[in-house]
Amino acid sequence: MVSESKGLVLVVEDEKAIADVLRMYLTREGFGVQVEHDGPAGLAAAKKLHPVAIILDVGLPGMDGTQVCRELRTSGDWTPILFCTARDDEVDRILGLELGGDDYITKPFSPREVVARVKSVLRRANTTNNSNAPITLGSVVVDPDSRRVTLNGAEISLTATEFDLLAYLMSRPGRVFSRDELLSHVWGYSSIVGTRTVDVHVAQLRAKFGDHNPIRTVRGVGYSVDKS
Ligand code: CA
Repeated sequence: MVSESKGLVLVVEDEKAIADVLRMYLTREGFGVQVEHDGPAGLAAAKKLHPVAIILDVGLPGMDGTQVCRELRTSGDWTPILFCTARDDEVDRILGLELGGDDYITKPFSPREVVARVKSVLRRANTTNNSNAPITLGSVVVDPDSRRVTLNGAEISLTATEFDLLAYLMSRPGRVFSRDELLSHVWGYSSIVGTRTVDVHVAQLRAKFGDHNPIRTVRGVGYSVDKS
């Protein structure tokens, strides 16, 4: 188990050789990787797997990358997107307000450069959304800096994965996360691996909190922590 995964990156690229090399470099950097080879499959995977970032080729069979991006943005999905394009003249359109891409890279590119861009896109996304301030909910306090959790002031000892899962749930109290989202963000897995992992870790967390368990099951959807 990769306990410090950086999350799942979706690569939508129809050239298999490029997709393979991106998968290899991203995996080496600690990302989980899901590859799709055409537009409709890429869009479906983006919606289902909730990746932390998408590397999206512009020229794709079925539906081109700009259409995939537009569909996602229209449905309110602002997952960071790094476009790959063979044509410099497409860049203005890609980064423009109309499409809302986060960055682009022109082919031929070095895989190392793509990985660096993905990291920087994620860094930007994270600094705007997250602070490292401790999160308090009722009697539970989670401190991301020290990676300590307390219940009524007493420390609860958690594994790295349990901590990451709890901190992620507590970052958005009241929000219900599907198992697929949790697998992507906490483990960097796609749900093809199976979702039992999430259930097992939730059960372990609950056992550690006993009567003060903060995690609620939302039947048929996933998990949540209540706002207070
Ligand atoms: Ca292509």
